[in-house]
Amino acid sequence: MAVESREEATGARPNTWATTRILDPSPAKGRWASRMAEVTAPPPTGARRIAAIAWASPTTAVGLLLGVVAAGTWEWREDLGAIVVSGARNPLVRMGGFAGQGVGHVIVSSRDPVPPRLLVHESAHVRQAEQLGPFTLPLYFWWLARHGYRHHPMERGARATARAWVTKTRLAPASGGE
Ligand SMILES: [Zn+2]
Repeated sequence: MAVESREEATGARPNTWATTRILDPSPAKGRWASRMAEVTAPPPTGARRIAAIAWASPTTAVGLLLGVVAAGTWEWREDLGAIVVSGARNPLVRMGGFAGQGVGHVIVSSRDPVPPRLLVHESAHVRQAEQLGPFTLPLYFWWLARHGYRHHPMERGARATARAWVTKTRLAPASGGE
């Protein structure tokens, strides 16, 4: 969630994360903040998936609305367990270097194709919404006001998930957005 290109400027070098950790004055405190700051698991399956879709549905409704406004190409991605709306054409959505945003089970991006690393980052936000349900957006903005974008527990979790994916696939960190 939020403007991803801001992260690209700071997240491209391997050393940045170590520096960030040292400089971070407020590591995620509290059960939910700590949980959100962790690397996320793959999409749930079976009954857990149905429960997750239902629980996240209020947030997904907002994501669907954003997808419609964004005016891009819609695609269901089974591997991500989410709808991806790529190549958003709406200039309002593309403002301020917007790269991507995962809202509930919808990932909206201005890119087409969406860089794999950006997709992994945004799919982490999808998994977070499956846990936080209708509290996702209120908590997102609460933590944003409290911690800022860089130290936001949900953004830290999404960055960690993308980094873990890069390590796993052995792709260069510069190959996509964060
Ligand atoms: Zn994010």
